[in-house]
Amino acid sequence: MTLKSTSDKGLQTLAIHAGEAPDPTTGASAPSLVMSSTFVVDEEISFSANNLSSESPYVYTRWGNPTTQQLEQKLTILEQAEAGIAFASGMAASASVLLAHLSQGDHLVMSNTNYPGTAEFARDTLTRLGIEVTPVDTSDLADITNAMRDNTRMVWLETPSNPLLRISDIKGAADIAHAQNALLVVDSTFASPIATRPLALGADLVLHSLTKYIGGHGDAMGGSVCGKQALIGPLRGEALVHYGGVISPFNAWLIMRGMATLPLRMRCHQENALAVARFLEAHDQVEKVLYPGLESHPQHALASKQMDNFSGMISFRCANPKQVAARMMQQLEVIHYAVSLGHHRSLIYLMQTDDLIGSSYRLDGAELEKYRDAAGDGVFRLSTGLEDGADLINDLAQVLG
Ligand SMILES: *Cc1c(COP(=O)(O)O)cnc(C)c1O
Repeated sequence: MTLKSTSDKGLQTLAIHAGEAPDPTTGASAPSLVMSSTFVVDEEISFSANNLSSESPYVYTRWGNPTTQQLEQKLTILEQAEAGIAFASGMAASASVLLAHLSQGDHLVMSNTNYPGTAEFARDTLTRLGIEVTPVDTSDLADITNAMRDNTRMVWLETPSNPLLRISDIKGAADIAHAQNALLVVDSTFASPIATRPLALGADLVLHSLTKYIGGHGDAMGGSVCGKQALIGPLRGEALVHYGGVISPFNAWLIMRGMATLPLRMRCHQENALAVARFLEAHDQVEKVLYPGLESHPQHALASKQMDNFSGMISFRCANPKQVAARMMQQLEVIHYAVSLGHHRSLIYLMQTDDLIGSSYRLDGAELEKYRDAAGDGVFRLSTGLEDGADLINDLAQVLG
């Protein structure tokens, strides 16, 4: 009772069965959780990660673990990839890709607004190591083209991006990157594999924070990278084994459990987000709503082409955001005032413009104006959960007044 082929199966079937098989010794239908950090071997195994291959037996959980491997296979199949690898967090995955695939003297082109951890890692850590970084608005392909140099080795997109939900054209960016022999990496956390399959659009690597939609329940951190074996192999040998950002098998097991319902959850996230976005757009205290599924989103056409599901992330603006945030902290009944996203619980957080620009994005000139034009003094980033849509709308209505 293992899938004989996956290419003819739908995403709901794959989310449940891919990568899993009944336990051969006990017949257990659910995946077994192997917490062992070491494994008893019956032959001499090299101590060097350089000698690891996909045929190597389990030796030590930082190198490979049977529970984690099932998660990796499920992710690989959902992303239609050759290979996949799990990490302890989305940041462990991001840092590993950037450090393992870039070297001193290389040049990176990256979204100028994205996940703050990634933005700061690029601007501070990579530049300290002698890697040049050019942040651009990747939702404009001309900006990517103009930033390319002879030594550009990687283009990094986040789509939809944090917190303005800008959409970047993956196929267009892949063509630009590949013309220069650079890799295209897509952080697809806000989309999930249900909404977008970046590899099919030409990306070389797709990255997720499993902490968000894929795990989906706000109780386990993880990260993943999927792509060609030739790019994932070095990530396992160098990044996972030597940088050490290995996921706990328990978290891998929880995330795999969450993944079974990912297609169903994404459908509900989208349905609730669309209802809430339409409510917000009609509300007289709300100045602007950004949701890729709304016709008013500046890139609604591209989102419709590139995404099979608009996901559950909404950003919106209202007057006096700090007072509204204070009311939210006191009065919200259902929605949690908290960072993070993609959980079954709805989460909202004020992303203040001065804070983000000062600490993470460091924009100036025309790019700063463009950011302020969209975000004002700040946007509320709402991760629409799986509660009843009407309850979410009522909860927001009572704080917006
Ligand atoms: C959360 C997030 C990350 C980092 O993931 P962690 O699991 O928190 O380390 C990276 N990229 C995006 C888009 C995220 O939302």
